[in-house]
Amino acid sequence: MEEKFAAARKQFLLVLALSTVIIAATELAMYLKILKTDDFLWKDYCVGNFYVPLAINLTVVVATGIIINSPNIKPVIMNYACVIGFVAICTVVVTAHNDYPVLLAVFVVPVLWSTVFEDKLLCSVTHVLCQIGILQLTVSSSVLTKNGQIVVDAEDLARSLSGKRDMIATHGIDADTLLDLSTNTRTNVLWLNIILGILLVAMARLFGYLMLMQLQRKDTMLQSHEKDNMALEKQLLRDQMTGLYNHTAFYEFLDRCVRMKGDEPLTLAVVDIDDFKKVNDTYGHDNGDEVILTLSKIMQEHCGVDNYVCRYGGEEFAVIFPNSREKEARQVMQGILEAFRNTHYDWHSGSITFSCGVFQCGAYRMNAEEFFQITDKLLYKAKHNGKNQVCGGS
Ligand code: GH3
Ligand code: MG
Ligand code: MG
Repeated sequence: MEEKFAAARKQFLLVLALSTVIIAATELAMYLKILKTDDFLWKDYCVGNFYVPLAINLTVVVATGIIINSPNIKPVIMNYACVIGFVAICTVVVTAHNDYPVLLAVFVVPVLWSTVFEDKLLCSVTHVLCQIGILQLTVSSSVLTKNGQIVVDAEDLARSLSGKRDMIATHGIDADTLLDLSTNTRTNVLWLNIILGILLVAMARLFGYLMLMQLQRKDTMLQSHEKDNMALEKQLLRDQMTGLYNHTAFYEFLDRCVRMKGDEPLTLAVVDIDDFKKVNDTYGHDNGDEVILTLSKIMQEHCGVDNYVCRYGGEEFAVIFPNSREKEARQVMQGILEAFRNTHYDWHSGSITFSCGVFQCGAYRMNAEEFFQITDKLLYKAKHNGKNQVCGGS
């Protein structure tokens, strides 16, 4: 069976690859827009905004792809690789455009998406990494120095002011005042955005936490429903005394197996304990029950989980072999007979036996009733031939 989150990891990888392409395309589009309005040269723009981010993003995509497709890596590590890859790409975007603090909001995406893996620790780690991603903006930001003073590039300022010449002339604002105003506003806006970014990501973490809690509640409810269903199934389909499938289940399964039969062989075995009335009459009903329970256990031990072991009558049993030929089924039943007749009971000195008919469903389309009747006839043939034997149809 495929691991629960394998599909989610593939989706993550696809999103990482798509993000890389979209980011590169957006960078190009942004450059073309800037080129139109300002005198930005491609050589000034390309390294920090295009080539380096693209190289890092591609490395993240390739590394994540290798990790999640590696057969020797634990699934939980693969989940971490996906999420950390996503945080890395977000960090690259934010760092490349640290003068667009609105981009801090992208950190909400990995925080929310990490809940897909239903792992509380992974969600917390993602949250911390995203908050670090936001805080590193204060370090990487080109407008802040270490002591918090504003440094504005002269060319940058000239460009900003060139558009405001008319305003300066009209309102009589001198360049120094404007510089003060502009730098103070930029610092405040930056800090405000960082604080808002931190709050936004924290809110996303809270939302993710609530989603995880809800998922857990749903899982618990599903598990309890499953338990109820199993208990109900047990009541409806299982024989209370032996735990084997009961009369109803036997006919239901037989009908289903006959109807759905493909190329696989389908074989039925029916069993009736020999002279059981005598056992009951001589040793009592309780000891008779012990014999029934003993046979049930032996049958379960020999038949495995793929075959249906049923008690369809008082001392009548059946096994449906949905994937065995008559020869194999006969060998299994012979082994059961061997073990049953060699069982020692404290209250009985001889051996108790059974008779069994085994028949493989033929190529022609017979229904469940016909199938059962033919096999039952073989059981009576075994009784007729002296009991204590398995009688096949071929
Ligand atoms: P044969 O070899 O021909 O099968 O002879 P038999 O005596 O086994 O005959 P039959 O199969 O008709 O006997 C069924 C007996 O099984 C009758 C009934 O008292 C007994 N029986 C049915 N259910 C139970 C049960 O749950 N516990 C006990 N102790 N006896 C049961
Ligand atoms: Mg009987
Ligand atoms: Mg009997």
